[in-house]
Amino acid sequence: MTPVERRVRDRIIQSGPISIAEYMEIALGDPDHGYYRTRDPLGAAGDFVTAPEISQVFGELIGLWCATMWQAVGAPDDVRLVELGPGRGTLMADAIRAAERVPNFLAAADIHLIETSPTLRVRQHDVLEALHPTWHEHFAEISDGPCVVIANEFFDALPVEQFVRTSSGWRRRSIGIDDAAGDLCFVLTDGGRSIPVPFHDAPLGVPCELRPDAEILVDEIARRITREGCAALIIDYGHAVRAPGETLQAIRQHRFDGVLTQPGLADLTAHVDFAAVAEAARAAGADAHGPVAQGVFLDRLGLGLRAQYLCESTPERAEEIRAGCRRLRDPDKMGKLFKALAITPRGSPPPAGFGQNSARTC
Ligand code: SAH
Repeated sequence: MTPVERRVRDRIIQSGPISIAEYMEIALGDPDHGYYRTRDPLGAAGDFVTAPEISQVFGELIGLWCATMWQAVGAPDDVRLVELGPGRGTLMADAIRAAERVPNFLAAADIHLIETSPTLRVRQHDVLEALHPTWHEHFAEISDGPCVVIANEFFDALPVEQFVRTSSGWRRRSIGIDDAAGDLCFVLTDGGRSIPVPFHDAPLGVPCELRPDAEILVDEIARRITREGCAALIIDYGHAVRAPGETLQAIRQHRFDGVLTQPGLADLTAHVDFAAVAEAARAAGADAHGPVAQGVFLDRLGLGLRAQYLCESTPERAEEIRAGCRRLRDPDKMGKLFKALAITPRGSPPPAGFGQNSARTC
């Protein structure tokens, strides 16, 4: 039994079944044994690979996007460049390498990293030390002022709740201990939350997912952007339309694992509900743009041109560069399941990559 499972069981024995969100919080965030607190999960030797680890072009294009959003509000001489869940720091390093060519951007940008994992903070420090970033546990700790926020594969790690429509009303899907076998198992408990309209006609027995922490965070970010200016870019895998169905999954060593099998040793994630993100941003007074499929978004930002340039300047790496870009862009790889959504102050024109006019193919 993993130490996390021990903690989960103790909690259940003490006070009854726990919600899936609580289970995810313990499995991912337990200070001593939580998945993200204890390891670097990225890369071939880890459990999963993310876009910035696949190609430098990803971070470079995002860096230029950030600089463009800063320019769009008049290039203030003080801007917070905030990354949520920066992993190994690769995205930020690539972003800055590209964006420092935009005059005055680097001098204006203060880099802030929201990261709870001590292990990953060390890696980020190694890679980004020269940029003097500041680390935080929460977005709210960042001082007031214009900010550009980026988040790649961050929201999918925030806890989800599941609710199920039954013949006797809505019930919460929780985690308890099976009486006979003694294993962790899913159980239905009392509801205790209002269910959004798009789920009202969900088929009986099909779990519907909500992510309250994401809505709270998006509300905070959208209010800040509305008040102080600039933008946020959220890239993740997920769906554009809210629909019933379970997407919670466990990944270990690049393979699916049981959600309840080895808590603390496997990554637990669920698809991002982009409709809910957009709704939270709009309710906070901001505009939401997209989601746009990642492949389309990157093409519009100039993925093809940048890849071509890199292939010409480093021909010995050309095959690797092309393969990386195909993986990011192709619809049957990361190009369609992954999506980008931007948040801007109300009334702003669509940012680069979100308007039809910015389309650029190669
Ligand atoms: N953005 C990176 C890493 C994605 S993995 C990339 O694209 O490669 C998710 C990241 O979010 C990790 O850095 C993890 O430690 C961090 N993280 C997960 N939950 C978090 C939370 N609640 N608060 C802050 N950081 C969190």
